[in-house]
Amino acid sequence: MNKKLILLISMLFMLVNLASAGDNNKTISIHGDHIIIDIHARFFKPGELIIFEISPFKENKIETVSGMFLDTEMEFYPEGEKWFALFGIPTKLEPGLYPITISAVNNIGDKEQLKQNLRIDEREFSISELNVDPYYLKYTEEKLKRIRKEAAILMALWKKKTPDKYWNGSFIKPVDDLFTQEFAVKRVFNGEYRSFHSGSDLKASIGTPVAAVNRGKVVMCDDFYFSGKFIVIDHGRRVYSFYAHLSEFKVKEGDFVNKGDIIALSGDTGRITGPHLHWTMKINSVNVDPEALLELGLY
Ligand SMILES: [Zn+2]
Repeated sequence: MNKKLILLISMLFMLVNLASAGDNNKTISIHGDHIIIDIHARFFKPGELIIFEISPFKENKIETVSGMFLDTEMEFYPEGEKWFALFGIPTKLEPGLYPITISAVNNIGDKEQLKQNLRIDEREFSISELNVDPYYLKYTEEKLKRIRKEAAILMALWKKKTPDKYWNGSFIKPVDDLFTQEFAVKRVFNGEYRSFHSGSDLKASIGTPVAAVNRGKVVMCDDFYFSGKFIVIDHGRRVYSFYAHLSEFKVKEGDFVNKGDIIALSGDTGRITGPHLHWTMKINSVNVDPEALLELGLY
């Protein structure tokens, strides 16, 4: 290895043994010779958001940062002197120790690679059991075709990357009311597991104004089988918010909206048992608990 080109400063192997849940918003710090890594989360559990914050330890400037976690390349972006990456922990991840590797190069060519095992704790999922007429659980070929096509459209959308950061600081609730069904509830119909709840439901009678949870660009206003009338806002860097079962749109595709702007009226469209607002947050194609976005301070 050419030492003039690359100087491997240090490599740390550390184990973290996080205490079980209790106080909200945890930070793990790893100190290297050139960088400090702060790993923030509400909890280190499936469905939670992790914020990786990389700061220069000395006066040198960080030129590039890359990292791997859960076999996924992390996407780091500079913000002032620091670099950040957001990461959603998949809901189906088994508890255990998972390695994180973060590499950084500074402006004088020093390279540093830090490794750490992160412990992911178990998340207890609430179960919502429903008994319905089996007729409603059977889909015709035609309906299935529509459901699959709509799922594919959304999957492709979550993969689209806008490098700009449109969001500005912390996120807000789209309606000022109570959560009626939390994120990642396991839905069991007639004794058979069907799906995880992809977002959170908020109490909202028909016609309640729905606000943009942060600044962003409206990239989809459409009407799908499950969600009914919905809106997707691109907040940049693969952070999307999704609002479903709406009755009326107040914006159109291509519009830029600020945090708190009214984008729609809530309703009861789509496959639904009663009026409410369904709110999903997608980060790098992963469903993240919207309440994590409300509680974690975002840069
Ligand atoms: Zn919902």
